[in-house]
Amino acid sequence: MSEHRYYTRGEIQWIPRYIETIDPEKCIGCGRCYKVCGRNVLELIEKPFEGDDEFGDDMGNKIMSVAHPENCIGCEACGRICAKKTQTHITLK
Ligand code: SF4
Ligand code: SF4
Repeated sequence: MSEHRYYTRGEIQWIPRYIETIDPEKCIGCGRCYKVCGRNVLELIEKPFEGDDEFGDDMGNKIMSVAHPENCIGCEACGRICAKKTQTHITLK
């Protein structure tokens, strides 16, 4: 992929950092990242349980997923709002 160069309105170079992954072990499904993202990238999904799980009820069984990474503009708002630091973000070359 060719090198991407982006600039702010003030023509200062800006390097997008696109969301790559959300750690399903750390995410608590709070939805904060979903609320700050205006690009339809993220989606709450059922937490994948392994075997019987005593907490497998209606509470706390969702986690966030990167459903549409192709829509991400790399603003990192989702990463800043996440208290659990679940996400990894990457740059493209
Ligand atoms: S980096 Fe920005 S555009 Fe991408 S998922 Fe996070 S909030 Fe949405
Ligand atoms: S803000 Fe963090 S903990 Fe909350 S749903 Fe998003 S990734 Fe999960």
